[in-house]
Amino acid sequence: MNKYNRVVLKLSGEALAGEQGYGIDPKVIQSIAAQVKELVDLDVEVAIVVGAGNIWRGMAGSAQGMDRATADYMGMLATVMNGLALQDGFENIGVETRVQTSIEMRQVAEPYIRRKAIRHLEKKRVVIFAAGTGNPYFSTDTTSALRAAEIEAEVILMAKNNVDGVYNADPRVDPNAKKYETITYMDVLKDGLQVMDSTASSLCMDNNIPLIVFSIMEDGNIKRAVLGEEIGTVVKGK
Ligand code: UDP
Repeated sequence: MNKYNRVVLKLSGEALAGEQGYGIDPKVIQSIAAQVKELVDLDVEVAIVVGAGNIWRGMAGSAQGMDRATADYMGMLATVMNGLALQDGFENIGVETRVQTSIEMRQVAEPYIRRKAIRHLEKKRVVIFAAGTGNPYFSTDTTSALRAAEIEAEVILMAKNNVDGVYNADPRVDPNAKKYETITYMDVLKDGLQVMDSTASSLCMDNNIPLIVFSIMEDGNIKRAVLGEEIGTVVKGK
């Protein structure tokens, strides 16, 4: 039995880059597509929010002297490229997929319309939310929190490619870092843990949306999370 029937899967841009660390790795797209297909086959309604760290981050542009809002719009556009790559990979293996963008580009994808997104999900189509929230100064983590609240998703699945949960210190730096099984958003915020940005954490906290942080590098993990197996770290409202 599925523990969750409607989920938001957050894929960071970095997760799509694979070992090359930049751009889009077709092998990774295939692997994600196969994992998402397993969910669809379990009748889980899957909405995906995709980032763009593999292509462009607004903060990096602004650190080099660019206007922050312009750099952020570039980041949002880059998420659309990732969204289309995912759609292509999904449809190659027969998973019906719609991309909806928060910035209109009708020749490329549907505009974001909440009720239409829900309708697609009910028809077991995967919906990819691209172009973030459509607003500069936000992140795709915030987008996942916002869209999860809007479509009444039961959980956000945060697939990471470099870490397998939430730790009290960076496990790549500190060998004694301890992984949490569960933690509250309040503690994440209080201790400044690098789970998601604080805007996203508080939105999840205020709307009581749980988050599961886990590694996407282990095949089958997305399905395990949906079935309620204990993987990674669960971040809870209370
Ligand atoms: N972005 C934005 N508003 C949003 C979502 C994203 O301005 O609502 C921009 C921002 O510049 C960000 C970039 O898009 O750096 C890519 O998103 P993010 O950094 O969240 O990607 P990830 O870290 O998940 O790969």
